[in-house]
Amino acid sequence: MSEIELQNLSKSFGDIDAVTDVSLSVRDGELLCLLGPSGCGKSTTMRMISGLETPSSGTVYIGEADVTDQPAYDRDTSMVFQNWALFPYKTVLENVAFGLKMRGMGKQQRRDRASEMLERVHMDGYESHSPTDLSGGQKQRVALARSLAVDPDVLLLDEPLSNLDKRLREEMEIELKDIHEEFQKTFVHVTHNQDEAFTLADRIGIMNEGRLVQVGEPNEVYRDPKNKFVEEFLGDTNFVSGTVSDIDGQYGYLMTEFDSEIRVPVASETQPETSLTVSLRPEFMQIAPITDSSNRASHQTRADGNGGGGVSGTVESTIYRGSSIRHVVDIGGEQLFVEQGVTDQTAIDEGDTVELRWDVDDILVFRPDGTRVRD
Ligand code: ATP
Repeated sequence: MSEIELQNLSKSFGDIDAVTDVSLSVRDGELLCLLGPSGCGKSTTMRMISGLETPSSGTVYIGEADVTDQPAYDRDTSMVFQNWALFPYKTVLENVAFGLKMRGMGKQQRRDRASEMLERVHMDGYESHSPTDLSGGQKQRVALARSLAVDPDVLLLDEPLSNLDKRLREEMEIELKDIHEEFQKTFVHVTHNQDEAFTLADRIGIMNEGRLVQVGEPNEVYRDPKNKFVEEFLGDTNFVSGTVSDIDGQYGYLMTEFDSEIRVPVASETQPETSLTVSLRPEFMQIAPITDSSNRASHQTRADGNGGGGVSGTVESTIYRGSSIRHVVDIGGEQLFVEQGVTDQTAIDEGDTVELRWDVDDILVFRPDGTRVRD
């Protein structure tokens, strides 16, 4: 069952098309992250769900009801903002109780409910504090308690963690996930941070230039990006362009910009001479030193026939990144990034000649217009 249904939703501000033709179903009890770069229309989409913004066209359903023309205060939604929006002159308890007062709840009941909510976000003991005395993470917990206190069907979170430092943000991601599981509400969470979306989301909706590009579970959008934009935005990948020199069934040979032919999956429509861009993900490549000096070629041509692919080059630099080591490898004047797990004990140093290998089926292939090539 869908809790939120957006049908062909668009919003323009003068000449700016902030959101264009977005259709999306958010399931009851789901945590859906809207993810995309700054200015792609995430917040405007969210604000149309909340009623803070009126669509230029399209329809918003919450539950069974068409709420497109309903004001925000009549919708069963509650919002958490990036800047917390707490009242500085009210105590923490009064902040959490505020929405309940607006809804006509009696004083003692309000206090009890607000205390309960503070306890559930681990902020009991802070009832009489001023929000100005709290850390960013604590303010965010209070803002969450305030939004949940009114028992909304839908909680809308607009970049709620982006004012927090990395460690606190990661802590709060886990807590938010726990709170979502505990409260069983429908959450729509806006973020431009891929890691945050991957940690939190049941499904991710990826937006670009006002449009919803792809919706899917985190592993689905990561493993199977719909186009080059999604691949570029989610991954941290190497794009290599080239021209198809030859087709061999489901595979073709791409003469690349680093002057080496690599084997790539192609579609039945792919013709020789076609220009393509492939994504070689750093984490899908294996790196090994070439020790035999007779093997030292600046690059190799035509990968072997067993479905694997590879090239050789020289390690330009090596960067330790904690859980992995990143090597920058020069291949015929072009750079490829390769990720080596820290548990891989192979010593690889700057200046080494190395071979990079990959499974040809891990390569994602895109047309010049960014669409994916596949059958
Ligand atoms: P960010 O992460 O930076 O907040 P976003 O993806 O949430 O970005 P929106 O805030 O929805 O994007 O903005 C989408 C586009 O609409 C942007 O070009 C923005 O400048 C424009 N925009 C948003 N609100 C208004 C407004 N009230 N008036 C005019 N333009 C607006």
